[in-house]
Amino acid sequence: MGSLRKYLHPIIMLIVFESVAVTLWLTKNNLFYLFNFSYIGLAVSLGIFLYIKQYRHARRVVQLLVGLYMLIYLGLICNENMQIEGFWYYLFNGVFEAATIHYAVAKIFGPLIFGRGWCGYACWTAMVLDFLPYKVPEQPRKRIGWIRYITFALSLAFVSALFLARVRDMERIMFWSFIAGNILYYITGIALAFAFKDNRAFCKYICPITVFLKPMSYFSLLRVKCDKDKCIGCGKCRRVCPMNVDVTDNSRKRENATECILCMECVRNCPKKAL
Ligand code: SF4
Ligand code: SF4
Ligand code: SF4
Repeated sequence: MGSLRKYLHPIIMLIVFESVAVTLWLTKNNLFYLFNFSYIGLAVSLGIFLYIKQYRHARRVVQLLVGLYMLIYLGLICNENMQIEGFWYYLFNGVFEAATIHYAVAKIFGPLIFGRGWCGYACWTAMVLDFLPYKVPEQPRKRIGWIRYITFALSLAFVSALFLARVRDMERIMFWSFIAGNILYYITGIALAFAFKDNRAFCKYICPITVFLKPMSYFSLLRVKCDKDKCIGCGKCRRVCPMNVDVTDNSRKRENATECILCMECVRNCPKKAL
């Protein structure tokens, strides 16, 4: 019974994903959803299991399993544009499938439960950026986060223009924009990481998806909290945080609160087990 309790989190995660998988499979009458969400659920649960087992690279395992699946299988093989342009495209077409389901689960409503877990464990852009040398930012945060609203507006304007111009063969354009968009993201992300000595600079200043992620994760059920009785104020948690979050403050308004990607570096490094 004790060991079952220990593995409660991966079990719950598996049940949640399996419920989504079965519900979408039956309601949409499409076996793909059963396969897709079962796979992601298994990958996430495996990661939590490995984390409980104190395997150092647990998060990276999930990132690679989910990120590569989405980028290579869904994006390149199945031709699904899972970037924000794909979301607008399906939304304008009024269909609830592919990118719209992905965004609803991972980036719009899901963050109410698991915050920016997507950014820590599944995003294929960060999957590559996290290999770069600046795991902890070496420079203070810049005040240029407003750029994300411009990239968000540009993505919306791009897809709107295609619809207004009644462009033919939109599926094909969406596929190529997925390839071009990813190349652009990787080039910009890698260049910014080296310029600002911060692997996650792209996430902090450019990524348009944060326009959804940040407000929704403000209400997140899953959060890292600090036990003030144990904390000795050593500041280690702050020093290892890739997103500059002040995790010792339990308020939802704590500094960079909606930036937490639940990577658990602070928890792992706290000498007093206060987090
Ligand atoms: S902020 Fe954007 S690029 Fe960074 S991990 Fe999240 S979704 Fe990916
Ligand atoms: S690392 Fe732990 S003890 Fe140190 S400030 Fe952070 S929460 Fe407190
Ligand atoms: S180190 Fe802690 S506060 Fe910072 S992003 Fe990771 S989990 Fe969140």
